Amino acid sequence: MRTAVVLFTRDLRVHDHPALATACATAERVVPLFVLDPRLAGRSPNRDRFLHQSLADLRTILRGRGGDLVLRHGDPVAETIRLARDVAADGVAVSADVSHYARQRQRRLRDECERHRIAYRDFPGLTVVDPAALTPTGGDHYKVFTPYFRAWSAADWRSACAAPDRVPTPEGLTVGRLPALPAGESPQPGTGGSPQVAVGGETVGRRRLRDWLGNLDQYGDRHDDLPGDATSRLSPYLRFGCLSPLEVATAAGDRDGPFVRQLCWRDFHYQVAYAFPDLATTAYRRGAKEEWRYDAAALDAWQTGHTGLPIVDAGMRQLRAEGWMHNRARLITAAYLTKELGLDWRAGRAWFDRWLLDGDLPNNSGNWQWVAGTGNDTRPNRRFNPLRQAHRFDPAGDYVRRWVPELADVTGAAVHEPWRLPLAVRAGLDYPPPLSER
Ligand code: FAD
Repeated sequence: MRTAVVLFTRDLRVHDHPALATACATAERVVPLFVLDPRLAGRSPNRDRFLHQSLADLRTILRGRGGDLVLRHGDPVAETIRLARDVAADGVAVSADVSHYARQRQRRLRDECERHRIAYRDFPGLTVVDPAALTPTGGDHYKVFTPYFRAWSAADWRSACAAPDRVPTPEGLTVGRLPALPAGESPQPGTGGSPQVAVGGETVGRRRLRDWLGNLDQYGDRHDDLPGDATSRLSPYLRFGCLSPLEVATAAGDRDGPFVRQLCWRDFHYQVAYAFPDLATTAYRRGAKEEWRYDAAALDAWQTGHTGLPIVDAGMRQLRAEGWMHNRARLITAAYLTKELGLDWRAGRAWFDRWLLDGDLPNNSGNWQWVAGTGNDTRPNRRFNPLRQAHRFDPAGDYVRRWVPELADVTGAAVHEPWRLPLAVRAGLDYPPPLSER
């Protein structure tokens, strides 16, 4: 092949990138492209920022290997074809994704390539195991996690691709400007972003992965320790493909270990979303009872972290501050919204989608449905007692005090139940009573 265009989407890396590696190995010229799609922009200022940082990093990395990143705005299919024709490309490569929107984009791109006599190929890379690769007897996807995990860990995984030493991008292309980033480390006031968000890009992601591998041993014992904050925080880098999930899983080693098992949950939800594209809007479990209340004041209290239940408010404030929330807190806050307040999981899903750096359709919707009892949980009526969870996973109350400054002077586990404090102490706290008492 003479010239290949590699369309990047949410695979913003050069390591273990099968589409890029194949193009570099088989084409004389390779044109890496990212198209800023107005249909996807503006949904989450946190993710927009992370994306723009990741693009800047990718361009630097590609330039360091003799290439570049071409940036265009508009419809990704039209822009890819336009560029492919400009550079007389004979091939277009893309990493296959699972959402309805992404698959429609792939289909349109394939059709347009065919119309213009350009070879089209999609590649793996967004998951450890391809979402369509494993199927149970008599079904098109796994509905229950444990059998999926067994099949997943026993499957043959592809070998990770080396990063290309050289990316032979032709000279003279108009490469386009990177989107402007707010100055400084944190988003500027008024941008609608979180003040303490992680920085995007493969360079930071790989550094985090290296550091994390040194802490892996503690994961089994500490991943539910809310104040200990002992999880990897790799999720935004996986979300944008700054890290290859296969590389992370392989580097972690033990396929049956607790960390790799969590990575399998990610693949599990991808294969569910692949088989059930309406996961974001429609109950996955056939016959799931959906009788939600609609209470704007309760929803607002939950969103802003003013429910009067400290463990819930702490999680929701962490989300706003960091664009990330500890998994245990996600479970507690989501279960509180759906099972205690009886509010629709879709409202919770949308709020998480607005703030989460790692927010993506399969994992956000899959987990919300799991918690709400409309999804893949084999015990859909499971309840998470938020107070019991608080005492178990934040026994001394440090997580709550970190995120709810109004309660910073309440010592020990008493911080979980401010309504039990002496009236005089309670009166001095600028903290609301529980929603049920208002
Ligand atoms: P670690 O504990 O270090 O785990 C390593 C990796 O495994 C994570 O980075 C992630 O890729 C994967 N993983 C871990 N737990 C899960 C899980 N339950 N489901 C799927 N993948 C998992 N995760 C997202 O990536 N995007 C989302 O939009 C998202 N929404 C969620 C919504 C709710 C209501 C709940 C309960 C969970 C959600 N999760 C989501 C899953 C999980 O909370 C995060 O992946 C995890 O907290 C990320 O932090 P970490 O990287 O430190 O995870």
